[in-house]
Amino acid sequence: MTIAELRTQADELDRIDALAHFRARFCVPRHTDGSETTYLCGNSLGLAPKAARASVEQELVAWEALGVEGHFKPERPWVSFHELFAQHLAKIVGAAPHEVVAMNTLTVNLHLMLTSFYRPAPARYKVLVGHAAFPSDRYALASQIALRGFAPANALITAAPRAGEHTLRIEDVVALIEQHASELALVLMDGVNYYTGERIDIAAITEAAHRYGITAGFDLAHAAGNVPLALHDWDVDFAVWCHYKYLNGGPGCVAGCFVHERHGFARDPLPRMAGWWGHDKHSRFQMGPEFEPIPGAEGWQLSNPPLFSLAALLPSLELFAEAGMDRLRAKSEALTGFLDRALRDLFPEWIEVITPAAPTHRGCQLSVRVMRDAKKAFTALGANGVICDWREPDVIRLAPVPLYNRFADVVRCAEVLSTIHENSHA
Ligand SMILES: *Cc1c(COP(=O)(O)O)cnc(C)c1O
Repeated sequence: MTIAELRTQADELDRIDALAHFRARFCVPRHTDGSETTYLCGNSLGLAPKAARASVEQELVAWEALGVEGHFKPERPWVSFHELFAQHLAKIVGAAPHEVVAMNTLTVNLHLMLTSFYRPAPARYKVLVGHAAFPSDRYALASQIALRGFAPANALITAAPRAGEHTLRIEDVVALIEQHASELALVLMDGVNYYTGERIDIAAITEAAHRYGITAGFDLAHAAGNVPLALHDWDVDFAVWCHYKYLNGGPGCVAGCFVHERHGFARDPLPRMAGWWGHDKHSRFQMGPEFEPIPGAEGWQLSNPPLFSLAALLPSLELFAEAGMDRLRAKSEALTGFLDRALRDLFPEWIEVITPAAPTHRGCQLSVRVMRDAKKAFTALGANGVICDWREPDVIRLAPVPLYNRFADVVRCAEVLSTIHENSHA
């Protein structure tokens, strides 16, 4: 395949793309020459929907005009603002609306969930995690283990790929769960791994864990808004995710949390870190001394939420509802498949795609190892307006996002890489 052939294919694929018009609903950053950048970094920070500014402004105006009465009087009263998110989030993660809530940030939510769901006993205190787990998750977990009086060094069991492989095999993870079944309290894994881009089989892992009475929780930072999810049907115990990656909520955006209704509506509410915003709505303002949790995920809220951050997020969730996860996923498979084929065809001995080749085993991101001049390639991509990111020691992450990327963006990336490739031949 040549770049010219790739371009011809991309032109046709962009022409028939039923979701192509969504790109115009986003602000695409400009390169130094004024042209639009090729933005392949939605795995790290999604682009700003054009509607985000007006949505935030609406609440600023409400604050200016109403002061404290903004809690009850505006079109979108602040007191119930977070409720606007339940339907959208339920669709995105495959849950009932009362199983999801937008609150806090991801690592905070992970701590809240670990407080309720990591219930170690002397003979059963270990936690199974995936390889290449995000540092924040490991820190949170290790600190929770230490807080309960156990040694993190003994408590963490890591599922790793086989020698010479980059990603996990589900049968190996299940075998590890079986092998350690009697000592595991919790399995905590990523839905899609941030480093390798591999997607794990959440249903199979949850099923294996539950067979031995082990709790199963997931970090969906790279999965939410990226791959199809059915948390309720898969019987997942809890999950957390952020909204600034594929869900375009802006830097530091309020995060998401899922608690299965088995737990959220349990007769005896689970122990938790409590705060007034998780208290029963009808009696919250009676300011009584006893905490009565709202049934469902909302009962884990601590504080009244950061309104402007929620306001920035809502337009993106409306775009997801308009586009539909099914259509987005279909385009995503085509777009990432196109990038995958281009890299394998054009640079077979220079670039190794470490993300699994099967669409069922990945989301939109491809993690690629560059065998020579890796840093040079990354620098040249940036200098030519292709925004992606670098992970030590030699991995570049490329994420064509179906909501705003075009097949032409893949061609642009391949074109820059091919220039460097030609110059890097020994
Ligand atoms: C992005 C990401 C985080 C970030 O945590 P914050 O609390 O939002 O700063 C945590 N875990 C994973 C797996 C991530 O990909």
